[in-house]
Amino acid sequence: MSYQPDENGFYGQFGGAYIPEILYKCVDELQKAYLPIIESQEFKNEYYQLLRDYAGRPSPLYYARRMSEKYGCRLYLKREDCNHTGAHKINNAIGQILLAKKMGKTRVIAETGAGQHGVATATVCALMDMQCEVFMGKTDMERQHTNVERMRMLGAEVTPVTTGNMTLSDACSAAIRDWCCHPSDTYYLVGSTMGPHPYPDLVARLQSVISEELKWQLEEKVGRNYPDYLIACIGGGSNAAGTIYHYMDDDRVKIVLAEAGGHGIDSGYTAATMHRGKVGILHGSRMLVMQTPDGQIEEAFSISAGLDYPGVGPMHCNMAEKGRTKVLAINDDEAIYAGYELTRLEGIIPAIESAHAVAALGKLKFSKEDIVVLTVSGRGDKDVETYINNKEMAKEYGNF
Ligand SMILES: *Cc1c(COP(=O)(O)O)cnc(C)c1O
Repeated sequence: MSYQPDENGFYGQFGGAYIPEILYKCVDELQKAYLPIIESQEFKNEYYQLLRDYAGRPSPLYYARRMSEKYGCRLYLKREDCNHTGAHKINNAIGQILLAKKMGKTRVIAETGAGQHGVATATVCALMDMQCEVFMGKTDMERQHTNVERMRMLGAEVTPVTTGNMTLSDACSAAIRDWCCHPSDTYYLVGSTMGPHPYPDLVARLQSVISEELKWQLEEKVGRNYPDYLIACIGGGSNAAGTIYHYMDDDRVKIVLAEAGGHGIDSGYTAATMHRGKVGILHGSRMLVMQTPDGQIEEAFSISAGLDYPGVGPMHCNMAEKGRTKVLAINDDEAIYAGYELTRLEGIIPAIESAHAVAALGKLKFSKEDIVVLTVSGRGDKDVETYINNKEMAKEYGNF
């Protein structure tokens, strides 16, 4: 059984490319161009050289001794938080900027929610001397002001989006609208495993370097190249896709993904798309979407801006539907607690997104010998204020 997309970008019933007529030509061009380019030796040389010398890969695989004792397993952390710009997003941004160059594009656009993908995109545009415009909801610009300043310092134009709830979903729509107006010179650098085909596949391949490294790092550290469990958080699905890519068809490996429960999946304030979503089309792709009975998109809610999206990538919809992955909803308070716990037991402050994955540990039953790999998708520097403001959610650690 394979979980790869078919030639039209369908993962089972999910995926595809639902785009306005005017984008047909440039999406078709991208569909035809991406595989020959990213599989070429020339691309690979440049991509791996930048991942190594610029992003700082391979990211460490770290044996977390104190956390292992606590959870009764052998826990290894895949440290995407150590990457340049602080998260896994740079892997994708580097790959797509090289692709954009090779396709002869001169202008790059991107959407961003928390600002992490916007920063990664602005970074590679500075590196490659490309014009860059980032669309960001006005609400998010206020919530994530330092990332706005980082993008501007890097030379990007940050355009406030004032439609809808003025958050990530609206920023995606604005980026697609801009793309419709500039289809020939502009490259749309999508930040996760979402959007019309080929983006979900393209982003998954560019992030698959995570599990490619896991194979040899595990061989080196534990004497076999696969774990018993893989755990990752999931928003659009890119760090999860990278973590599981080379293990999807390996039944020895159990996969557990943590989505954002917000205040609880039945509270009306949630981003638990796989628990709450119904099949629908959003931002060019058929996937699980949180929506009202008559098809209006519902606003997502999570303490973590990076998981705050009403949809989830088609690859993950299909794998969850087929029972290959187990998806847990982690609530805000559980994520905050787990973030404090990792900080105190290992000296690693995780991004709040990643803390959702950490919280999944407490919901699983391990045996002592189990090898568990958990991806720490990003670092928590951007979230310190949120951790402090919610320290009552981590009573054991938050009484300072
Ligand atoms: C953006 C982000 C996520 C969520 O995006 P995915 O595409 O699901 O990986 C998770 N963690 C961090 C640190 C992020 O910046």
